[in-house]
Amino acid sequence: MNDEQLLRYSRHILLPEIGIEGQEKLLAARALVIGAGGLGSPVALYLASAGLGNITLCDNEDVDLTNLQRQIVHRTESIGRKKVESARATLAAINPEVRVTALPERVDGKRLEALAAQSDVVIDGSDNFATRHAVNRACVRAKKPLVSGAAVRFDGQVAVFDLRVPGAPCYACLFPESGESEDVRCAVMGVFAPLTGIVGSIQAAEALKLITGSGETLAGRLLLLDALAMQVRTIKLRKDPACAVCGA
Ligand SMILES: [Zn+2]
Repeated sequence: MNDEQLLRYSRHILLPEIGIEGQEKLLAARALVIGAGGLGSPVALYLASAGLGNITLCDNEDVDLTNLQRQIVHRTESIGRKKVESARATLAAINPEVRVTALPERVDGKRLEALAAQSDVVIDGSDNFATRHAVNRACVRAKKPLVSGAAVRFDGQVAVFDLRVPGAPCYACLFPESGESEDVRCAVMGVFAPLTGIVGSIQAAEALKLITGSGETLAGRLLLLDALAMQVRTIKLRKDPACAVCGA
């Protein structure tokens, strides 16, 4: 690290759990962020400000006026632009040394698996079950840690599926692909603005902890947040031996 980097990241370096070694790991790391919306915004902002060296952002949508209430990486003048381009401009203004790859695509299948395989951590900020399952499948195949998040109305969820570890549960162990999960899209549901900030910030924290190896992550646990009562609880997750995605 040069003198400017030592200053920029000094408040991380002062933390014994991170230090120079941890910050160097962050600078060398690669993160794949799915979605540049409500969750992807705080995720990308904190990964970039914290000096996570290489961030790949995937989102095929354009910035819309209704996004700006909670998708804090975008600006009013970005309406009509691709979300990933809008986000890249904001991130470059915060930390020009972070390399941001903007993919204006809805990635799936082999393409998603290849992107996951190149990454040290995958953060899912998508808003629908089809994408969440596609991201989970890619992470199971590529054996990469997945930081999953969801936010709708006043309810938030975060979980880490550390698929590098044999025996770790995957997203489909919790929500089977064949399940009758009701797809509550935030395109049509209300979402409390700071809820996405809280959930996305927790996802960013877990991603940074996974890269630096600090503390204890939410691996194998599901954090449930009720922002209306402001209550948080975590429940233990178990691998489903009959899981269609990660089971034998
Ligand atoms: Zn599974």
